[in-house]
Amino acid sequence: IKDFPYQQILVLGLAKTGTAVSKILQAEGFHVVVSDLKANETDLEVKALIDLGVTVHLGEPSEALLDGCDVIIKNPGIPYTNHLLQQADQRGIPVLTEIALLPYMIDVPIIAITGSNGKTTTTTLTEQMLLKSHQSVAAAGNIGHVATEVSYELDKDILVLELSSFQLMGSGSFRPKVSVLLNLFEAHLDYHGDFDAYKEAKAHIFKYQQADDYLVYNADNADVTNLIKTAKAKPVPFSRKSVVSEGGYVKEDALFFKDKKIIDIADIKLVGAHNLENILASSVSVLLLGATVEGIRQVLTTFTGVKHRLQFVLENKGVRFYNDSKATNILATVTALQAFDAPVRLIAGGLDRGNGFDELVPYLNHVVGAYVYGETKDKIQATMMKQNIPTMAGESLAEMTKRAAADAKTGEVVLLSPACASWDQFENFEIRGDVFIDTVRTL
Ligand code: ADP
Repeated sequence: IKDFPYQQILVLGLAKTGTAVSKILQAEGFHVVVSDLKANETDLEVKALIDLGVTVHLGEPSEALLDGCDVIIKNPGIPYTNHLLQQADQRGIPVLTEIALLPYMIDVPIIAITGSNGKTTTTTLTEQMLLKSHQSVAAAGNIGHVATEVSYELDKDILVLELSSFQLMGSGSFRPKVSVLLNLFEAHLDYHGDFDAYKEAKAHIFKYQQADDYLVYNADNADVTNLIKTAKAKPVPFSRKSVVSEGGYVKEDALFFKDKKIIDIADIKLVGAHNLENILASSVSVLLLGATVEGIRQVLTTFTGVKHRLQFVLENKGVRFYNDSKATNILATVTALQAFDAPVRLIAGGLDRGNGFDELVPYLNHVVGAYVYGETKDKIQATMMKQNIPTMAGESLAEMTKRAAADAKTGEVVLLSPACASWDQFENFEIRGDVFIDTVRTL
């Protein structure tokens, strides 16, 4: 870490990120104090930090922690309404996230990706496209690897980062070579307060960019095009609705970047119009950094989706099975249903949050059967009945998957897109998706 202008650093919140950041800062000779509400003295990570000489405060933090403190690096999840952060604000102590350290750690080109939806898919595509173009690349951020940890010992030429609004707020002078803004929908309003504050947080992705950087943006999303008006970077649009000749677009059932054809849509393995946006965004970004159309094509003709996100599992007797366990709300299931022209057998259900499911109705025209389970099975069944969709209710996901598979005919799709959180029966959506995959594989 070179020239970081602070010496006494309070790391707020441990977990994976705070632990990694503390270790790095301590190793680099900074004075590090850690505060965590929930960790215990007996936790291995806490012990390891203490052994390294880090001061660790557990439990409710006292304001005294701010005495002599130059800067706070906080876990992205901690809201700014936090008492200690408010006190820090009154004292004029800057509050940052680990992303703010990156400019002092590495100077390789960064592709930074944000948006309300599609971040993980686009980040994965971007990394894969660069790899297949024989570039040396690492991916980090929200996708699972701590950004500072990956950056600290980076031996790659390009870094791809998935960034949430939480990470971007407090990202200091972070400046990616290519920033990507996928879309903006109302989200996380409990954290940010209102939609404007959320958009302002997202705007940090291009705030410090200069004229020789690029801003890849969704020209179809009005909130996006409004937000980027103040950006200094070269704007590079992508659109699936109109021909934006200076960017990425759809024409004659194929994808283009400027006047160069990338691929026929028929050759793309990923399904769903929303994924065309993710594909355009990633293709444009990697072409700006020297990737090849051949490398991009290799990914698009083989990549079947990030696990649990409208992921193609397998085809059995002409029936295609898709795992969309990440669909923990109705909107996500609507997105999934729009991805198919073929008849769909929908498996849905899960935690009851008190809402009904009639918002699905306009999107059910391809659904030829519904297989519902979990706390919400009766409510979803009621919605399906309104559309005269044959519906079967049962106790478990595995049982409903077998039923759907038994009913499915050649050319049909069996789709797990639950429209509900998994917590009534599963620890998380990943385990739910794995149960579906395992059941499908043993059919
Ligand atoms: P994130 O990392 O932003 O949560 P993911 O790539 O994990 O996004 O996708 C999560 C879900 O969001 C998908 O299953 C799909 O329902 C929806 N989604 C993905 N990409 C888009 C997009 N470009 N526009 C709208 N919705 C999308």
